[in-house]
Amino acid sequence: MKILANDGIDPIGKRLLEEAGFIVDTETVAQDKLIEALQNYDAITVRSATKVRKDVIDACPGLKLIGRGGVGMDNIDVDYARAQGRAVVNTPAASSLSVAELVFAHLFTGIRFLQDANRKMPVEGAVSFNKLKKDYAKGIELRGKTLGIIGFGRIGRETATVALGLGMNVLAYDLYPFDGKLTLKFQGDLSLDIPVKTVSLEEVIKNSDFITLHTPFADRPILGAAEFDQMKPGVGIVNCSRGGTIDEPALINALDSGKVAFAGLDVFDNEPTPLEAILKHPKISLTPHIGAATNEAQERIGEELASLIIAHFKN
Ligand code: NAD
Repeated sequence: MKILANDGIDPIGKRLLEEAGFIVDTETVAQDKLIEALQNYDAITVRSATKVRKDVIDACPGLKLIGRGGVGMDNIDVDYARAQGRAVVNTPAASSLSVAELVFAHLFTGIRFLQDANRKMPVEGAVSFNKLKKDYAKGIELRGKTLGIIGFGRIGRETATVALGLGMNVLAYDLYPFDGKLTLKFQGDLSLDIPVKTVSLEEVIKNSDFITLHTPFADRPILGAAEFDQMKPGVGIVNCSRGGTIDEPALINALDSGKVAFAGLDVFDNEPTPLEAILKHPKISLTPHIGAATNEAQERIGEELASLIIAHFKN
């Protein structure tokens, strides 16, 4: 059995597959050469770069499995592949903690102006140290503040556990109500169950000190001018979900008016070429869609993908 790991696979996943008798090639084949290359493979694994569309599926009858390391399967024609009898698997939970922790990287950045300080200190730090010290004097703490979470699936819930662990209050909204317990895990065997119940979107929007989005791609933005108007003055916004979930021009207006104090963005409307006005904004902390890009998440993705592939072919 041969597998083409066209967007790479963590060494742990590769080793597990090889130990189970698979041949794993990790050299990336260009999209326009993919059909030709795949004639020799039983399975392909991808991340977000390689596209496995109808044309590839039709032209590669020997391809029995398509594996996505990660969550979103926008780059695969999933329903079509399954209708043709091909297996499609992904690793939806493996990166949830990494994305949740990135939310807090953006929150801690925003509440202490790090996005601006990191830009200005190299240029002005030596000559205007005391001026910058004054500019960044009005930081705030997270403990005791309320985090609004829109989209209370895997990542939304993981984000809630981190927030609760920091002593924050959580207000969560999802299309599907949740009324249950979240388990906070500490070192050793110590854990704590905390009850959480979702509320209305309006409650989240009106009563949160910070709002973070964890919904899938949407046809229309979930947060736009009308929603920013209803928020608390000085709210902080984080988006580590998908571009398109926030109306970016409305966010810039809300930042410029001071209604929104800061934003932390990992995802953008026009990836990979976000708006200049977003990239240059002094109140926006930026990362280039790296939510799942930690060593631990990539290891978990590799391990999970390998075990799904092994289970599929060995059963
Ligand atoms: P999930 O499917 O577990 O959770 C998504 C939740 O959003 C679901 O509970 C769903 O009911 C809810 N939802 C959908 N539309 C909604 C709406 N309009 N309002 C409120 N709730 C809504 O998915 P997940 O694993 O938690 O992933 C969440 C998002 O994070 C996805 O967009 C995913 O693509 C993205 N993601 C980003 C990165 C990154 O690198 N930044 C990494 C992994 C996942």
